[in-house]
Amino acid sequence: MHLLEGGQIADADGTLEADVAIENGHIGAVGDVPESDVDERTDVSGKFVVPGLIDTHVHLMMDGRPNAETVQGDTEAAYAYRTADNLRKALEAGVTTIRDLGAPASVAIDARKAVADGTIAGPRVQACGQNVTMTGGHGHWFGREADGPHEVRKAVREQLKKGADAVKCMATGGVLTTGAKTGAPELGPDELEALVDAAHAKDVPTAAHCHGTQGIKNAVLAGIDSVEHGTFMDAEAAELMVEEGTYWVPTISALKGIVENREAGIPGEAMAKADDATERMAVAWEHALEAGVDIAMGTDAGTPFNNHEDAAQELASMVEYGLSLEGALEAATVNAADLLGLDDTGMVEQGYRADLLVLPENPREEVLAWQSPEQVYAAGERVQ
Ligand SMILES: [Zn+2]
Repeated sequence: MHLLEGGQIADADGTLEADVAIENGHIGAVGDVPESDVDERTDVSGKFVVPGLIDTHVHLMMDGRPNAETVQGDTEAAYAYRTADNLRKALEAGVTTIRDLGAPASVAIDARKAVADGTIAGPRVQACGQNVTMTGGHGHWFGREADGPHEVRKAVREQLKKGADAVKCMATGGVLTTGAKTGAPELGPDELEALVDAAHAKDVPTAAHCHGTQGIKNAVLAGIDSVEHGTFMDAEAAELMVEEGTYWVPTISALKGIVENREAGIPGEAMAKADDATERMAVAWEHALEAGVDIAMGTDAGTPFNNHEDAAQELASMVEYGLSLEGALEAATVNAADLLGLDDTGMVEQGYRADLLVLPENPREEVLAWQSPEQVYAAGERVQ
């Protein structure tokens, strides 16, 4: 066993002074371990051993460039090289599980295999394959266009056949697609219902990109598992989400990346839509916190100036909007694991995967601690 000794554990259960033993990629023991079982020791006294971050919403083939649409037309090989680079950066920054919510062809699904078999370094990957969008809808240039319940069902089944771990769709327009309106619904109620039905038949979770209020409600009522962005959430939408048990993935980093980088080459239309969305984001947070909506951490990394190595900034942003430090920790660990259907990561507990970070400060008391991991372990292997 490899013993991380002398530190404190901080996870969703609280803070505890205890050693952590890693064995065969998993947490073999928490607390006292017989001397004879220890063959490697790492002194972590004064430090905090915490679960690795789970980022439930990224785009591995995008690299934070000012105009995301310029990756259009790149070859699949180009997308794949960029994906490998982003995976390594995310892992070194403390992300040990990552979910891609939209990539061309099977680029992200294949990345899952490449990480799992050790071909490239990266967090454990889940991927949706191509996002399902209406003809000409948000993200149509890397998505699977489909109209009407029948076509949507077929589009979902195609992703499942490729091996998708999740199904992603566009319930409203988006910020980065030229001409798309953020407030307007895109896939309608009957199409969303068909999508959820086809995915849930295979026990695969669904995620809906929604900004506008009506689009959020359409998605929640159709039984979607997570609302991505949710910018124009009103009180009624928040209450509906609580009733239906729908997660909110706010992706604050995506908006910040745009509005904090003026004159940096981001198209004017995207800037105007991001300004509009940012104005409403604070209101959405008030409704979500008031109603008690479950929140999972997702960055939308890959969008302008929203880099894969900066995932931990999302926790600080959530706290700025009023989430507690404990709430941010839960969003990025146990809640994110629950949304992804994983029961083996997100806690520092015996039997869990040894997806662990060593932080200089207690993240339950200082949210910025997440931004400087001193050690990163993915399935027990030290990568940083
Ligand atoms: Zn996205």
